[in-house]
Amino acid sequence: MTQGAPTDEQPDRRRVGDWAYNRLRVLILNHELTPGTRLSVPALAEQLSVSRSPVREAVLRLIREGLADEVPHRGAVVSHISRTDLAVLYEVREVLEGLAARLAAVAVTDEEVSELEENLQEHEAIVASGDLEAHMDADMRFHAVIREASGNPWLTTYLSQIQGQIRLAMTSTSVTAGAEPALHDHQRIFAAVKGGQAAEAEEAGRMHIRRLREALLNDPPLRDDTGPPPAGARR
Ligand SMILES: [Zn+2]
Repeated sequence: MTQGAPTDEQPDRRRVGDWAYNRLRVLILNHELTPGTRLSVPALAEQLSVSRSPVREAVLRLIREGLADEVPHRGAVVSHISRTDLAVLYEVREVLEGLAARLAAVAVTDEEVSELEENLQEHEAIVASGDLEAHMDADMRFHAVIREASGNPWLTTYLSQIQGQIRLAMTSTSVTAGAEPALHDHQRIFAAVKGGQAAEAEEAGRMHIRRLREALLNDPPLRDDTGPPPAGARR
């Protein structure tokens, strides 16, 4: 029986592992592997045409990142991140995004300022078009530039990890707090970062996430098609 061993185009094991990890991550974040789906190493190895050990490593990385959970007797499954999990995650994110904006106000480069300007222009057009998926992508790109601009690699690592989990939760819960207010918050963060106003940047960064967290806790659920329905909330 063929096991789909790595071919010549996949030079070494580590690169195959990275490739498998990125592939699975995209499948999870795009919801092609939905929450609760079992991540069977033999089946995925066959599907991706690679050997089992890089897939096993990729699944372990996804577990560490919070995108998969180890379930007794079932192995790894794609995580279901509930609104409650998300709200707790936002508590951490509020502080870290504030810190990123504060550091960015001191360390941002001209190139990053241009990137942010370009992002905001694109985002404005997206908000006008009402494309929610594109809005989430533009939103994520803005935060990626801000955390890069902070110049702190630890902060960058933690925030990108949190953002992966948030993206997963958003696709599974359809939680959004409105594109227009988000864009407005971004413009405020950008103005403070560009102007080198560290305290204002931090406050604007924190406010943005705090507002999202409050919206998350107060808004009625729109769609939660993968988790168990909350008690008494079945429609
Ligand atoms: Zn944002």
